[in-house]
Amino acid sequence: MMTILNDDHLIVRDQARKFAEREVVPIATEIDVNDTELPDSLLDKMAAMGWFGMTIPEAYGGVPFDTLTQVLITEELARGMMSVGRVIHRNLMNGWILNKSGTEQQKKKYLPRIADGSLRTANGATEPEAGSDFANISTTAVKKGDRYLLNGVKQFITWSSQADMIFLYAKTDTKAQPKHRGISCFLVEKQRGGFDEPRMVGTRLPMAGYHGMHTWQIQLNDVEVPEENLLGGVEGKAMPQLMNGYEAGRIGAAATVLGVSQAALDAALGYALQRKAFDRTISKFQAIRFKLADMVTEIEAGRQMLYNVAEKFDRGETCDMECGMVKLYCSEVLLRHAWNALYIHGGNGYCTEFPVNRYWRDSAVGCIGEGTSDIQREIIARRLLGER
Ligand SMILES: Cc1cc2nc3c(=O)[nH]c(=O)nc-3n(C[C@H](O)[C@H](O)[C@H](O)COP(=O)(O)OP(=O)(O)OC[C@H]3O[C@@H](n4cnc5c(N)ncnc54)[C@H](O)[C@@H]3O)c2cc1C
Repeated sequence: MMTILNDDHLIVRDQARKFAEREVVPIATEIDVNDTELPDSLLDKMAAMGWFGMTIPEAYGGVPFDTLTQVLITEELARGMMSVGRVIHRNLMNGWILNKSGTEQQKKKYLPRIADGSLRTANGATEPEAGSDFANISTTAVKKGDRYLLNGVKQFITWSSQADMIFLYAKTDTKAQPKHRGISCFLVEKQRGGFDEPRMVGTRLPMAGYHGMHTWQIQLNDVEVPEENLLGGVEGKAMPQLMNGYEAGRIGAAATVLGVSQAALDAALGYALQRKAFDRTISKFQAIRFKLADMVTEIEAGRQMLYNVAEKFDRGETCDMECGMVKLYCSEVLLRHAWNALYIHGGNGYCTEFPVNRYWRDSAVGCIGEGTSDIQREIIARRLLGER
């Protein structure tokens, strides 16, 4: 149905699809059921494909792809497993933020290593008392000579124990008005596989789904950050820096949930065609057929919208409203249809070893991370009503 894709897009999509079928699908259930981190061997293979450098210019070691190509690759990887799509998407977003907002020195130092996959990054915005309301974070960064001292608590920071660097948001001016003008972003280096206690203390927050990347609360105790690691070298700019990344981020988030929706449809179709009840396959029952019809229709609608937004983004047009729309729509399509796919599996759908159960557990996070569904509605409504 989709005509927007050229031959290059189709080749890359096919490569990513085969990669996911060969490298991700065989290990996904084990990672999910045992709730382990994605293995290094998989991440190394993804790095060798150049997929961590897709938003990074060649001058800094990247292999820049257009946004539509990034979407296709993310979608196919997430079709294998949500966290595999998101691990790419997270480094792409941070690479994007650093490339757009970093100083020349920061870009030279970190972008080549993000691009080749040797520098893993996490994003630390949320706090126990401030998620959607980012302007009200209370982590502080106080300048002492040529360093900053960071103190506070960050919440739900995914993959932060595996990361070598966290993009961490803190207040350099607690009295600024509006409040977001007091927030700065710091590139906080850390050791991989832990939290450099006692300066950072990590507490794992077990999650119902989205397995493959663990999520943490991090207590920051006088974390010293050299002044050259203030993103862009200017205080108070974190909100526009992050929001710029979030536009790209919402496109990537939509690609991820779309990939999981497609996997849920694939599973539901396969099951409906082989499961028998009342002497026929359940695919013959109208209640099942209509669910499948709604799934494929809404997934295709989401896909058309996503690919169009990706193209618009590449043309450099303002598209925060469209990014909000596509993230909202695709997340809610997954939420609805992961349940439908589980339901089509009957009792088997409730068993954690069936991949469809994983899609269902993964489905909720799409409506929460990177701005909840209602925050997207708020962004859309503001634009629609001509408000800032
Ligand atoms: C698995 C997982 C991984 C995550 N990974 C990361 C990460 O790596 N880095 C990171 O920084 N954060 C991460 N998050 C945090 C995530 O971005 C936040 O949970 C999300 O932004 C919502 O914030 P909150 O949890 O504080 O909810 P709240 O902001 O408290 O929202 C609670 C409810 O109120 C609603 N609400 C709030 N404000 C409004 C409003 N103005 N209008 C209408 N409704 C509103 C929300 O929609 C929601 O329903 C992760 C979360 C999860 C669950």
